Amino acid sequence: MSHLDVDLVLVGGGGAASLVLAALDRHGVRGLRIAVVDPVRRRGQDRTWAFWGHPDTDLDPLLSASWHQVEVVTPAQRRVLDLTPLRYAMLRSGPVYDRAAEAERRLDATRIAAPADVVGDDGTGVVVRAGDGREIRAGWALDSRPRPPARAGRTTWLQHFRGWWLEADRPVFDRRRAVLMDFRTPQPARGVSFGYVLPVSDRYALVEYTEFSPDLLTDAGYDTALADYRDLLGFDPDGLRVREVENGVIPMTDAPFPARPSPRVVRLGTAGGATRPSTGFTFSAMYRQADQVARALAAGRPPVPAPAYPARHRWMDAVALRALDSGGVGGPDFFDRLFDRNPAERVLRFLDGVTTPAEEIAIMNSTRLGPMIAATAGDAAQRLRDRLRPARSAPAIPAAVVGGPQRPVPDPEN
Ligand SMILES: Cc1cc2nc3c(=O)[nH]c(=O)nc-3n(C[C@H](O)[C@H](O)[C@H](O)COP(=O)(O)OP(=O)(O)OC[C@H]3O[C@@H](n4cnc5c(N)ncnc54)[C@H](O)[C@@H]3O)c2cc1C
Repeated sequence: MSHLDVDLVLVGGGGAASLVLAALDRHGVRGLRIAVVDPVRRRGQDRTWAFWGHPDTDLDPLLSASWHQVEVVTPAQRRVLDLTPLRYAMLRSGPVYDRAAEAERRLDATRIAAPADVVGDDGTGVVVRAGDGREIRAGWALDSRPRPPARAGRTTWLQHFRGWWLEADRPVFDRRRAVLMDFRTPQPARGVSFGYVLPVSDRYALVEYTEFSPDLLTDAGYDTALADYRDLLGFDPDGLRVREVENGVIPMTDAPFPARPSPRVVRLGTAGGATRPSTGFTFSAMYRQADQVARALAAGRPPVPAPAYPARHRWMDAVALRALDSGGVGGPDFFDRLFDRNPAERVLRFLDGVTTPAEEIAIMNSTRLGPMIAATAGDAAQRLRDRLRPARSAPAIPAAVVGGPQRPVPDPEN
């Protein structure tokens, strides 16, 4: 068995690790011995990240599009939100992976193209056993391998979706603004559904159908829901070609994702709790934590970021998920009231976990108090019951449903 000694091992080289590599490079960290263990070298467009934040960050040159205005649509009204000083942005994975690969070269990191089978920690260092027989000894491990939570949550939902990159024969998309959430889609018996539109030009846009609910749809179910949403938007299907298809499943649960399973192992990304339970948004927390990790290492400190979200936000999300799951609060109504009674910027900062307690009280006051009080009481009772009985193990996060009859349609001219 061959050995490799490094200061830092990145176990998993996807979204979270790519942002860490880029941040280490950006903060000028040099001389650190780094290894990256992942059976897959991620490249190309395998996902599209949408997130909000202040403009003029290092990500700006990589963005496919950004919008200062977004729409939130319900059956009752179409609301145009001005996000200033924030903006909503679209970042495709390709440029992020390319930047990470460039950073990896500059950092002179060692790439191990094999799965990590064992990650052991004796408190003074970490040993990672890779599937190719190599053993990596490291001072610290940043582990972002996908994994189920430590135990089952009180509410276990999924954000699951399919998107089509649509190219139109003529200008049909409004490039000036994105549709953040459009709740005019038929609502599932248990859960919330919405569509959205992210235009990169007046002829090219990502159009998605998303559900927050306990179970996945079938392949045909996603295609039907998406075709229905396209029709609802009033687009002529004959004038549109599906250029790419994007599928995904993201956990939405109050189950715990321990961020520090042992002294020298730090979990990042979805596995480390960076996915906001009430929305599935993950990117901003991953970016924030990557920056904190890099700053710490640049200053010679341990690579331990602050928690992805404050504990009180995780509690509020648990209550909100419970209220939605019980049907006491309707999804469109919940988001409608949130955006109706608060400045958009406050709602978005709340969803990123960076609001003050006073702002959070204002947010809570904008929800329907009766069902939220019932959900708070239910959550407290369930927590008590959980303490008294053994923890149940969590189900694995299912893989996205891919393929199906609706393949990307080849361009007849090519
Ligand atoms: C299609 C899609 C779209 C999304 N869009 C958004 C969005 O718009 N906004 C947002 O905020 N969030 C979004 N997310 C959620 C989240 O931002 C992404 O899932 C993000 O990629 C999570 O990063 P990660 O590093 O935790 O996981 P991943 O990016 O999935 O990386 C995990 C890595 O671990 C590797 N791995 C697996 N097993 C092993 C092993 N045994 N050893 C070593 N490595 C291993 C995998 O090969 C992979 O490279 C989206 C997710 C998906 C799937």
